[in-house]
Amino acid sequence: MTDFTPRIFSGIKPSGGLQLGNYLGAIKRFVQMQDTDFETIYCVVDLHAITVWQDPAELPGMTREVAAGYLAAGIDPERSILFNQAAVHEHAELAWLFNCVARVGWMNRMTQFKEKAGKNAEKQSLGLYAYPALMAADILLYHATHVPVGEDQKQHVELTRDIAAKFNHDYKVDFFPETQPVIEGPAMRVMNLRDGTKKMSKSGESDMERINMLDDADTIAKKFRKARTDAEPLPETAEGLEGRPEARNLVDIYAALSDMTPEAVIAEHAGAGWGAFKPALADLAVEKLAPISGEMRRLLDDPAEIDRTLARGAERARAIAAPILKRTTEIMGLIGR
Ligand code: ATP
Ligand code: MG
Repeated sequence: MTDFTPRIFSGIKPSGGLQLGNYLGAIKRFVQMQDTDFETIYCVVDLHAITVWQDPAELPGMTREVAAGYLAAGIDPERSILFNQAAVHEHAELAWLFNCVARVGWMNRMTQFKEKAGKNAEKQSLGLYAYPALMAADILLYHATHVPVGEDQKQHVELTRDIAAKFNHDYKVDFFPETQPVIEGPAMRVMNLRDGTKKMSKSGESDMERINMLDDADTIAKKFRKARTDAEPLPETAEGLEGRPEARNLVDIYAALSDMTPEAVIAEHAGAGWGAFKPALADLAVEKLAPISGEMRRLLDDPAEIDRTLARGAERARAIAAPILKRTTEIMGLIGR
């Protein structure tokens, strides 16, 4: 086996304002990974966002908001490569090549498409269906060995591995790595505040179901106060969260925000009613999020500076991506590049 440089790639779509799940399941961990031996590459995946309708008048602002979220949370554009996907055309090109490697049967198993398409699958864009091949391209264009994601993206990283394995097998090469998903910690699936069986999403219907990174303190307090729960107080032990998805979700959020284990949170708040726990959770969320949202607002006051940062990142990204794409086309027998 080839030895691949330990390298992390991950991305976030500018499909709406950043929400708490994006922070706890993704950005917060991306920041920590800068302190490891991995090379870190983080992307605003705008080509994924347009798999559903995006108003062209709003997309640039959302792209900059995601970039500002990364920067405000502590992504250092010198230590990490930070860019937007559309600026590196190699992503779309490799995605096409992977469309010809991936199988229709694999795509048909993807639960995210089923969830997002709902009953209206026929009316969805072809891009929404082919999305996992673009995601595989995003990752493998950098020979990324590890991809930190939330639980909802596990299946797509597995598909990335399938594409890499089939490519290596069909062309008799050892060219693409077997990428590992990195899914660890208490908040890998932050749930919707109004329905504990659905994940929190940027593009979810109601604003009350999510905490946005740019929500002010009063809004955060109100959303937690109105969050759905059962009538029981917090249990005495973590096992007592069994079968209580809403209660578990709020405990997990508390744990992730405070860098505690859910067990330690339960030990501290055993037997507390929601009237006590929800305000404590809101205070904690405001304490952790306010410095980030303040910095995001400051950065968003100067969009040209964000654009310059992204452009510098795109140049660095292309320096890695272009030779890998070129080699891929050579392996496949495409000439003239
Ligand atoms: P959309 O609704 O448009 O799909 P999203 O909120 O799901 O938006 P994505 O851009 O699809 O955000 O995902 C960005 C990253 O955030 C991914 O790593 C994903 O796994 C993670 N993520 C998204 N939602 C959650 C969540 N509720 N809990 C934990 N991680 C999440
Ligand atoms: Mg999503």
